[in-house]
Amino acid sequence: MKITEMLTASKQMLSFEVFPPKTETVFRSVSEAALQIAALHPDFISVTYGAGGGTSRYTLQLAKEIREATGVEPLAHLTCVSSSRETVSARIEEIHAAGIQNVMALRGDLPKDGICSKDYHHACDLITELRASGYDFCIGGACYPEVHPESVNQKEDIASLRLKAEAGCDFFTTQMFFDNHLLFNFLYKIREAGIFIPVFPGIMPITSKKQVEQVLRLSNASLPQRFRSLMDRYGDSDAAMRQAGIIYATEQIIDLFANGIQVVHVYTMNKPEIAAAIQHNLSQIIGMPL
Ligand SMILES: Cc1cc2nc3c(=O)[nH]c(=O)nc-3n(C[C@H](O)[C@H](O)[C@H](O)COP(=O)(O)OP(=O)(O)OC[C@H]3O[C@@H](n4cnc5c(N)ncnc54)[C@H](O)[C@@H]3O)c2cc1C
Repeated sequence: MKITEMLTASKQMLSFEVFPPKTETVFRSVSEAALQIAALHPDFISVTYGAGGGTSRYTLQLAKEIREATGVEPLAHLTCVSSSRETVSARIEEIHAAGIQNVMALRGDLPKDGICSKDYHHACDLITELRASGYDFCIGGACYPEVHPESVNQKEDIASLRLKAEAGCDFFTTQMFFDNHLLFNFLYKIREAGIFIPVFPGIMPITSKKQVEQVLRLSNASLPQRFRSLMDRYGDSDAAMRQAGIIYATEQIIDLFANGIQVVHVYTMNKPEIAAAIQHNLSQIIGMPL
């Protein structure tokens, strides 16, 4: 089922994210964690794609296993910046042959060696190609409430986002953020710029001090004082930090739903216990009519 078709049910929904392993040797353990997350029956589940091709061949394998084992609809990620047209075209055929209808179309991070594909410069090139395939995919794209690090300013970033919407994106999922005001402000600005497709806010439960450094390095997200205080107070206790981080993320999600958001995406990072805790906290809220 396409994610856009799920939206017509007009209820509050949750999606989770898993990432495939880098090597065959750990495929089983990673897929077990991913299947445990899928067994919680989120409305759909994102399966990420390795930018440099590292984990790319396992994305589809994991997406198929999830659907076969749990019936949860997968959203298969696909990147293009390190790939040739032939590779991307082969992946699109594989995705279609596997019966996967939902694709997250991404550029991917620029490779460290600086060697980019001559065929793809931006995510919109991939979105155009997916549309041209004629396979009637439901296509997602990424967006950045705090601006993509390569963009000069938010105006430019939103202009690029509009090109993705015009190329045929059906929805956007956001980069993680820790202050909902950033999201509401971003939504106001993109609607003002004429972008009206659904936006799924991405929430990352931070459950350890170590994770904070990693997340800030990778995402360009800022940390509000409220979260810093919580980290200062509980960061040295694994159990307390985990509980505080889950509650913080839960509160963000409830506030988003309360303000009209239909789908919240949770960066569950192959951690079934975190996914389960968030879902438990929202058990009376998920599925509520809009
Ligand atoms: C929800 C989400 C999921 C992700 N999943 C993955 C994953 O599975 N695998 C992975 O490797 N990475 C993933 N990423 C990371 C992503 O690949 C990086 O953030 C990457 O640097 C940008 O990808 P993009 O698709 O947003 O690129 P783009 O949309 O191409 O944007 C990149 C930069 O180019 C600018 N730009 C875009 N289009 C144009 C244009 N037509 N003309 C001029 N400038 C333009 C943008 O403003 C931005 O500054 C994900 C990110 C998010 C938010």
